[in-house]
Amino acid sequence: MRTHDSQPRFKCVYPRTFCSHKTGKFNRQYDFKKHLLHSHFVLRDYKVIKFKSLNQKLGQEGQCMCGMAMIARDWLNHIIDIDGFGEYSCADLKEKWALHRAGVQNPSDNT
Ligand SMILES: [Zn+2]
Ligand SMILES: [Zn+2]
Repeated sequence: MRTHDSQPRFKCVYPRTFCSHKTGKFNRQYDFKKHLLHSHFVLRDYKVIKFKSLNQKLGQEGQCMCGMAMIARDWLNHIIDIDGFGEYSCADLKEKWALHRAGVQNPSDNT
């Protein structure tokens, strides 16, 4: 088992401008999924955040920032899905990347 893996295997799919995580990079899929659910998914019941197991969270309903309601497990597939034009299928994610490329700063980031 390699312990000194310098290359993080998972990267947040959201542009850095719109992500609260310091690096957006994760070595463990568990941490990666947890970050996505906690930072980029709107859970219908906020108490779900406190659930200990990721599997429990994955079965919960919530909403993508694009407005589509779905369960967490399906949402994780939704946000990594690429359409026929090489763009993200999620309208919100596509828009955020377009803004990011245009150099627009996150308007809700006031820190
Ligand atoms: Zn993120
Ligand atoms: Zn979406």
